[in-house]
Amino acid sequence: MYYVIFFIFGSLIGSFLHVVATRLAHNESIIYPSSHCPICNHKLKWYELIPIVSYLIQRGRCRECEAHIPISYLIIEIVTGILFAVCYNEFSLSSKLVISLIFVSILITVIVSDIEYMIILDEVLMFGSVLIIIISFILEGLDSTTLHVVDAAFAFAAMYALKIIGDFLFKKESLGGGDIKLMFFFGLVIGFDMAVVSIFIATFIAFPIALVILFMKKDNMIPFGPFLSMAAILILISKINLDSIINFIANK
Ligand SMILES: [Zn+2]
Repeated sequence: MYYVIFFIFGSLIGSFLHVVATRLAHNESIIYPSSHCPICNHKLKWYELIPIVSYLIQRGRCRECEAHIPISYLIIEIVTGILFAVCYNEFSLSSKLVISLIFVSILITVIVSDIEYMIILDEVLMFGSVLIIIISFILEGLDSTTLHVVDAAFAFAAMYALKIIGDFLFKKESLGGGDIKLMFFFGLVIGFDMAVVSIFIATFIAFPIALVILFMKKDNMIPFGPFLSMAAILILISKINLDSIINFIANK
């Protein structure tokens, strides 16, 4: 039963996050105006705002002007729903669950805005970091929160060093400022060591995809943020840590 609740809750949040990513990327207010079709300005009724269901019933079109609603809306709603249910499965009802749900939500927003608009929104990362620090302080106390912040600072510094080396080697901007701030956010939740591991996992996921994209249309910028975010979510929900990785390699 809880799985269904977390899935529905997640799909609602996912629907909201897509709106947040789109509006902030366009410098628009999140609250006003209410949800509308970008083509004909038709105001959406409550029954047109039900995650997944509305999209399927309307077959991905606006009820008024029949304009196509991007499939990304449906995908994000389903993926967020699944991730929320998975987080519940991994962390049950705990402080870690609250932090995980915020972590996943912020990263979904990062993925959407970076893929669709090539931008990692500072305000989203800032909001997420502050929120997690406050909640961690309330639920886990000062000592634990301090450790998280130190981890975050180290992760930030490591990525910054990597950028300087990268810029020097490639003689151009290798990593965006958003990727570095992203590392701070990762360090806060998955720790410094796993934030570093996420860079390797992200490279591993990104490499074949980047090859295909570069092959199809040359000289294209590929954002790294979505791959980093996917890697961090994978690390979070699989609960892998440095010990398990070292054990795995040592037993080979
Ligand atoms: Zn319309």
